[in-house]
Amino acid sequence: MPTANTGQKPKCDGCKAKRVACVTGTCQDCGGGTPYRAHKLCYACAEKQGVCAMCLAPLPNAKPNK
Ligand SMILES: [Zn+2]
Ligand SMILES: [Zn+2]
Repeated sequence: MPTANTGQKPKCDGCKAKRVACVTGTCQDCGGGTPYRAHKLCYACAEKQGVCAMCLAPLPNAKPNK
């Protein structure tokens, strides 16, 4: 089954379970918007770095693309 990247949230298991306030924030890397203030990185940057968007923990399934 082909998987598109859309809808895949780069978050670790711990953060997936967390409920976060629906307030937009700012990405620490690119300065762009993040969907939630609890997120330190936008999904694009988190995916690029292979880390969780919220706590920046390395994601085992992600493939860092430096
Ligand atoms: Zn970003
Ligand atoms: Zn996390």
